[in-house]
Formats: sequence, structure tokens, C-alpha cells
Amino acid sequence: MADETELQATASVVLADPAGMLERLCGHFVEHGQVTRRDGGARLGGPFGSVDLTADDGVLRIAVTCPDESRLFVVKSSVAEHLFEFAEGETVSLSWQGNAPAQTRIPYFREVMVRGARDITPAMRRVTLACDDPRHFTSGGLHVRVLIPPRGRAPVWPSVGPDSRVIWPQGEDTLAKRTYTIRSIDHARGELDIDVVLHDDSVGSIWAREAQAGDRIGLLGPGGGDVIPADWYLLCGDETALPAIARIAEELPSSARASIVIEVADAAEQQDIASKAAIEVTWLHRKGAPAGSTDLLAQAVRGIALPEQGSPFVFAGCEQATARAIRKHLRSERQLPKDRHLVAAYWRKGHADVHDHGD
Ligand SMILES: Cc1cc2nc3c(=O)[nH]c(=O)nc-3n(C[C@H](O)[C@H](O)[C@H](O)COP(=O)(O)OP(=O)(O)OC[C@H]3O[C@@H](n4cnc5c(N)ncnc54)[C@H](O)[C@@H]3O)c2cc1C
Repeated sequence: MADETELQATASVVLADPAGMLERLCGHFVEHGQVTRRDGGARLGGPFGSVDLTADDGVLRIAVTCPDESRLFVVKSSVAEHLFEFAEGETVSLSWQGNAPAQTRIPYFREVMVRGARDITPAMRRVTLACDDPRHFTSGGLHVRVLIPPRGRAPVWPSVGPDSRVIWPQGEDTLAKRTYTIRSIDHARGELDIDVVLHDDSVGSIWAREAQAGDRIGLLGPGGGDVIPADWYLLCGDETALPAIARIAEELPSSARASIVIEVADAAEQQDIASKAAIEVTWLHRKGAPAGSTDLLAQAVRGIALPEQGSPFVFAGCEQATARAIRKHLRSERQLPKDRHLVAAYWRKGHADVHDHGD
């Protein structure tokens, strides 16, 4: 029986081939969670909640159950998005009912305003954002999708269609999207800090360089989940993960121990890492080599011994090829279980805006 505190949404969709649609949805969602088959239907389960699908008599019945409004929205909009994509031109009508109020806005969207920006190292600029609701960003993950409106135009934010699909502004109102970490939250001042790596004339770098008090941006999130409790941590990454590593280190309890390894261009890019935990920090310098071109970080991880007792956890954020090398090493050579590491591609050489957050 459904828990009364859970939120539910249901829909019945008339389709030419509901069983075929059920198969396509299962085929897609199996990459993101568990799919359990039952007679004439299936249950899709994962960290966001569950989706029960039943195909009969020309109708696909959908029942979504989630613990909160944000996750309900993520699941409804994702199911809707894929349903319409897989319907391939068939006229489909999707209308949700349920015990939650109609979701006419993205529940995890916030508009914030730039309060100021300053360089904290030669290649890292801190953008401080005024936020009415800083508490919203304290749990659920460290990173956000930053929505950057075209310079000189009033922002048009994404809205929600009646079927729960997100409607993105188009043409001159198209938003640039980049992923950044919330480096710190100041509840008393109602401020969030985002530390942006300045490289080339990229969208994110230009935004951070030109950010001025009063500029409005949108934030979607936070996402990525909370840090897994452990008694020993390896926190490693390049400068793009430095904000995440610094924030994780600050939030560790005094009982924890952590080895921290950060690759940066040179000594001028080092920052103080504060923590109540017992931490050992190693800086790796690229000495003129471009970011994403060395194996410094992967080699350093290879040289670190994992404790034989207790519960270790490894966090890594870096260029995609390095993330893959570290992930492979931890899994194959160290046999570190999947739930004991989070190794994420924070960027990919030669590609804009990669957001494979790894596993
Ligand atoms: C979960 C998560 C959290 C992140 N947190 C932060 C953060 O707090 N601060 C931060 O600065 N970044 C962070 N990143 C990384 C950031 O999202 C990417 O670096 C992103 O590509 C930056 O956008 P851009 O507009 O600068 O470059 P893009 O337009 O995305 O890329 C343009 C070109 O620059 C290259 N490029 C991208 N990033 C770098 C880089 N750092 N150095 C050299 N070349 C690069 C790309 O390969 C591409 O060729 C995070 C990423 C993830 C997934």
C-alpha cells in the first residue's frame, strides 16, 4: 500500500501500441534504475521513486510515486519527455492526476542575482549570488545547472507544459547551461558562492569575467546527492572539482580522515583547504601543460593506499579521460565497491558542457 506521505501522479494515455511503448520506456529507463517485469506491465524503480506501467486495451496506464515534489516533477517530466519522443509523431494526450498540487513551475528552479565577483586566484573567479532561499541548496547535492541568459536581454526562464514537459526558451532567448558547484552558502547574508575556472573564451568564463551586480541568472538543482558517510576519504580532482573538494572537506566531521589530491596549473592556483577532519593535502602542478593533458592525477591516485579497515569513500572530479582511468583503477585493481566511490567527468576535452556526473 502506498505511504500517505508519498506523492502520487497517474495518467492514462491512449496509444496505438501501448505494449510497444512500455517496452521502449523500459529499454530506456533500465540504464537509469531497476526495471521489474510483471504480467502486462513493469515497475521502474530508482532513487527518484517508482513508476508502474500497465499496457492494456489501447491504453498505457502510468502511476508515479515519489517522496517529494522535486522528485515527482523529475519523474513526471522525464516520463512525458520520453513518451512523446517514442510516440514518433503519433498524436498523444497526457494529463496527470494525483494527490500533489499541479506542478506549473519547476520546483527546483530559483532565480538569483549576482551580488559581486572577484578573482580568488589568477584562474578562478568567485561569483557571489543573492538568493532569497539559501536553505534550498543545503541538501540533495553540491552542484547546480546555471542558466545564463543572453547578455542585454531580460531572461526568459523555462516553464512547464500541461503534460509536465519543460518548455525551454528558444531563439534570441536561448539560455546557456553550465554545471557548477555551490562552493559555499551564507545563510545570514542570503548568499551563494560559485567558483568558476577561467579558461579560454568559453561561455562560463565570459559569464564569470563579465558578471556584474544586478545580473540575473537561473539555477536548477541542487543535484548529485549528498556525500556518503565514511571514516576515510580520498578527495581528488583538478581545479574544476576544487570547489566541491573544499566544500566536502569543510563539512567532514572531526572523526574523519581524508587524503586530498588536487591538480592545478601551478602554485598560484592553490587555495587553503579548511576542515575539522584530519586531512593531508597534496597539490599537483601541471607546470605549463594544458589542463586535461597529463596523467598526474591518475598516477597520484594509483600511489595512494586505501585503508584496510573501516569504510573508505573516494570522490573524484576531473576531465573525462582521467575520470575513466581512475574509475577503472578503483573498480578493477582496487575492487572498490560501486557504492564506495563517486568518480565524475566534470568536463571533456574538446566538448562543451559535458554533464556525465559519473558513478
Ligand atoms: C558536477 C559538476 C560540478 C562542476 N563544478 C565546477 C565548478 O565549481 N567550477 C568550475 O569551474 N567548473 C565546474 N565544473 C566543470 C564545468 O562545468 C566545465 O568545465 C564546463 O565545461 C565549463 O563550461 P565553459 O563554458 O567554461 O566551457 P565549455 O563551453 O563547456 O567548453 C569549451 C571548451 O573548453 C574546454 N574546457 C571545459 N572546461 C575546461 C577547463 N576547466 N579547463 C580547460 N578547458 C576546459 C572544453 O573541453 C571545450 O573544448 C563542474 C562540472 C560538473 C559535471
